[in-house]
Amino acid sequence: MLPASLRDDFPILQQSVHGDRPLVFLDNAASTQRSRQVMDAVRRLEEHDYANVHRGIHTLSERSTDAYEAAREKVRAFINAESADEIVFTQGTTASINLVARSWGEANLKPGDEILLTLMEHHSNLVPWFQAAERTGAVVRQIPITDDGLLDLSGLDSLLTRRTKLVAVASVSNTLGTINPVAEIIRRAHAVGALVLVDAAQSVPHMATDVRALDVDFLAFSGHKMTGPSGIGVLYGKRSLLEAMPAFLGGGSMIDRVYADRFTPAPIPTRFEAGTPPISGAIGLGAAIDYLQAIGMDAIQQHEHRLVEHAWRRLGEVEGLTRLGPPPEQRAGLVGFTLDRPHAHDIAQLLDEQGVAVRAGHHCTQPLHDRLGISASTRASFYLYNTLEEVDVLVDALAAIRERFR
Ligand code: PLP
Repeated sequence: MLPASLRDDFPILQQSVHGDRPLVFLDNAASTQRSRQVMDAVRRLEEHDYANVHRGIHTLSERSTDAYEAAREKVRAFINAESADEIVFTQGTTASINLVARSWGEANLKPGDEILLTLMEHHSNLVPWFQAAERTGAVVRQIPITDDGLLDLSGLDSLLTRRTKLVAVASVSNTLGTINPVAEIIRRAHAVGALVLVDAAQSVPHMATDVRALDVDFLAFSGHKMTGPSGIGVLYGKRSLLEAMPAFLGGGSMIDRVYADRFTPAPIPTRFEAGTPPISGAIGLGAAIDYLQAIGMDAIQQHEHRLVEHAWRRLGEVEGLTRLGPPPEQRAGLVGFTLDRPHAHDIAQLLDEQGVAVRAGHHCTQPLHDRLGISASTRASFYLYNTLEEVDVLVDALAAIRERFR
């Protein structure tokens, strides 16, 4: 386990809610909390160095630009991309996926082409592809799931054909916690000439990521799920792919030259960063990466694994509770579940009264909930600052709620 003293880095965790209930924050798959180090880095920038980037030839603009580009380099190293040019700063995972669906999708998809998704995708990795299909005449197909909450790859050979142009898959399901075999999917997709976009919103914050070892074509993630600020995210794309893609949003910064009636686009990655970018957000994300790397991604993954093992076992003891998805060996640090009564929203509210913050609802995975035959579930999601004792607070509170609704 990681030392509990790490919690001292997160001032927000040092509080009680509803009177004297110590806050137990288990909604990390939605957004994690920010460390003092991240907040200090942003404050330092904003107190000393802040100005718009890439524009002014003055001291502050140069400092901000250097810090912004240094953050890009930190992201590159963190996911082992070959070049910082392959790192596009966006607003988050959703924006990154929309960028690919719009820019790459419109330039490359034709009627009858296929986009292969999975039934456990977040709406952010579904809707942009539905929209791309509407615009281009491409067809969306989906990899089904097994009753255990794993991807059912038994029919992959018939789903993955020469018509498949792109596979878009989450590395970790935000609802089931399933760790998907993305390396295998990438290998098999490449064998038929398809590209692969990995929605890594739930994996980059929690385990080591190596885009070159994976040979992934596009990878998307968000700063706010890894102790960084909200409003900043990343699209990684292989250089050759990004260079061939047209600009998506138009405006300042993304141009090389504008004439009276046309423009020539800037080189990558600036081509995809129209307007003033999230400067403080990028610096905050860089500081978050420094923070996570100092702890070690393997240590973080092991810590969460211990938490999820404990949660899985203890949740199994609660009467009327059904755990969603596979056992701990195949999952990341979150557990979704249903209770026969009361409703998921009431559970979340009653847990909140005990100081425990969880998520209830469809978690932006309605097709998955339809497949599971449920309308809502409750999710507890862990991060590096959570403890075994907090898992016990959650489970004991759940058992008491179930007892009340007996
Ligand atoms: N994809 C997955 C798997 C997620 O869990 C989330 C957020 O919950 C998203 C995409 C969307 O991320 P964002 O809201 O940061 O764009």
